[in-house]
Amino acid sequence: MDSTLAAMLVGGVATAAVLLFFAMSRKPVKCPSCGREQPKARQPDSLNQAMWGGYTCQGCGAEMDARGKLKNKK
Ligand SMILES: [Zn+2]
Repeated sequence: MDSTLAAMLVGGVATAAVLLFFAMSRKPVKCPSCGREQPKARQPDSLNQAMWGGYTCQGCGAEMDARGKLKNKK
């Protein structure tokens, strides 16, 4: 096999593995306002949430970004 192709293949597999690792190791986000854990399977309620992630708290309705940082309430 061509060594450049092999290197590309290894790089691609490594990248996929890293992405998968990050996807699997994401901790559940807790609402900073009321402490409630947000479900992983979220239902984005705006285009912005669908694009960038983020949650609307099931408990108190506070808005968070994908890392669980509180955003301004509506
Ligand atoms: Zn909350």
